[in-house]
Amino acid sequence: MENRIRYARTHVTRNEDLIFERTSPGKSGVALPPLDVPSAPANQILGANLYRDDVEGFPEVSELEVLRHFTRLSTWNYGVDTGLYPLGSCTMKYNPRVNEVVARLDGLATDHPYTPESLAQGCLKVLYETARCLAEITGMDAVTLQPAAGAQGELTGILMIRACLAERGNPRRYMLIPDSAHGTNPASVHTSGYEVRNIKSNAQGCVDLAELGRAMTEDVAGLMLTNPNTLGIFEVQIREIADRVHARGGLLYMDGANMNALVGVARPADFGVDVMHLNLHKTFTTPHGGGGPGSGPVAVKRFLEPYLPAPVVEQTPDGRYRLDSDRPKSIGRVRAFYGNFGMAVRALAYILANGPEGLRQTTEDAVLNANYIMTRLRDVYELPYDQPCLHECVFSDRRQAARGVRTMDIAKRLIDYGFHPYTAAFPLIVSGALMIEPTESAGKAELDAFIEAMRAIAAEIDEDPQFVLKAPYSTRVSRLDEATAARTPILRWKPQ
Ligand SMILES: *Cc1c(COP(=O)(O)O)cnc(C)c1O
Repeated sequence: MENRIRYARTHVTRNEDLIFERTSPGKSGVALPPLDVPSAPANQILGANLYRDDVEGFPEVSELEVLRHFTRLSTWNYGVDTGLYPLGSCTMKYNPRVNEVVARLDGLATDHPYTPESLAQGCLKVLYETARCLAEITGMDAVTLQPAAGAQGELTGILMIRACLAERGNPRRYMLIPDSAHGTNPASVHTSGYEVRNIKSNAQGCVDLAELGRAMTEDVAGLMLTNPNTLGIFEVQIREIADRVHARGGLLYMDGANMNALVGVARPADFGVDVMHLNLHKTFTTPHGGGGPGSGPVAVKRFLEPYLPAPVVEQTPDGRYRLDSDRPKSIGRVRAFYGNFGMAVRALAYILANGPEGLRQTTEDAVLNANYIMTRLRDVYELPYDQPCLHECVFSDRRQAARGVRTMDIAKRLIDYGFHPYTAAFPLIVSGALMIEPTESAGKAELDAFIEAMRAIAAEIDEDPQFVLKAPYSTRVSRLDEATAARTPILRWKPQ
C-alpha cells in the first residue's frame, strides 16, 4: 500500500500554520534607520479616528516568514497555470499572457467609463470590433457585450425573446429545456418569468424530435438548447429542431457556452439559432473563476436587434464611434456601463492573434483531444453514449460503482495523481457522470499522463476499492464535509 500512497506529481506541499500562530513578540518585518527629524505621534499625523493603539493578535513575524508563508499557500492552489484542468463544461484553457499585457495598456486599463465619447474613441472601437468579430464567428447580426457571465447572458437573451413575442401580441408562458441542459438554463428561464418544461433526450443523447413536436405548442416561447450539448454531442438534427420551433412561432435560444467546439467550423446563425450567448471566459481565453469578472455576450439575429440592452456602440458614416442610447424597444441596461470592458480587450486580443485559421485549429485540437481521451479510456470506463464527441467526453461510473466506488471517489483519487478533477456527477442524464474536457491547451504528453492516471485508478478500484474510497491521501485534509464548508465557512481567525 505504501508505494501507492506516493504520487507522481502534486501541487500540495505541507501543513502550514496560520500567520498568527507564527507570531514571536518583538519580531518585525522592517528595520528603519534612526530618525533624523523630530518625531511626531502617529495619531496626530493620521488623525485620531484612523489611529489604533493596538491591533489585537497582530502577527509579529519577519519579512521572510511572511514571504514564505504566502508563497507556500499560493502553491496549494491548483489552476490552469499549474497543470491539466479537465473540468467538463468549464473550458479551462490557457489564458495567453499577451492578452494580459494588452489589457494593461495605458488608455485601455485607465480610461474612465465617463470619459466623453470624443476622447474614448479607442475604447469604443475595441467594443465595436469585439462585437463585430463575435457576430462574424456566430453568423449573427448584432451583439451586446454587457452581460457579466453566461448565466446573465441567458437572462438577457430570454428577456429579449419575451420583449419580441410580447410585441407580436403574446409573450407566451413556457420555455422548453432538454433534460441534458446546464443548470443555469432553467434558472434563467424562471427568473425571466417563464415556466420551464423539460423535454427528454433520445437514446443518442439528443433532442427527441417527436417529443419536441408534442411539447412545442402555441403556449411555448421557444426552446433553450445547449449545442453541442452537455454530453459533448452535436445536435445533428438542429435544422429540423429549429424548423419545428419556428413553425409554432417560437424562438430558438442557443446556450453557446460550448462554442469551443464550433468556432471557425460552424455558425449557429446558419443552423437556425435566433439568439445565443457566448462565454468569453471559456471560449475566448479571458480568465475565469476565483471570483473575477466574466463576460457573457449575447448575439442575435437582425429582428431581435431593437431589444438589445442599451447603449449600443455604433460606427458613424465618418468612421467614428458613438454610443446609441436612444433605443425605445431595448430591454434596458443589464450591467453598469458596457459590461466588463477588460474581458472584451482580452478576447479581441485572442481573436486577432489567432485569426480565422488559428481559431479553427483551436476548435479542431479541442475536439481531437477530447476524442483521444474518450478512445483511450473507453475500455476501463463505461461510455453511455457511444459516438464521437466534440469538445468533451462523458463516461459513467457504472463499472466502478459495482465495486462501491463512485465518480466523486475517482475524482478525489485523481487529486493524488496531481490533476484537477473532472466534473463529477454532471450532466444528470448520465448516472455517475465523469465529464472530461481537456481543451486544446493540453499537449499529448499531458493527455497521456492524465490517461495513465485514470487507468491506474481503475486498476486500483479492481484491486482494492477501499483504498480509493479514502482518497485523497496527499492533501492536508482528505474528505471534507463540503456542504458545511460551503454553507458555514470559517473565514476569520479570532485571536484566542
Ligand atoms: C458555464 C456554462 C454556463 C454558465 O456560464 P457562467 O458564465 O458560469 O454563468 C451556461 N451553460 C453552459 C453549457 C455552461 O457550460
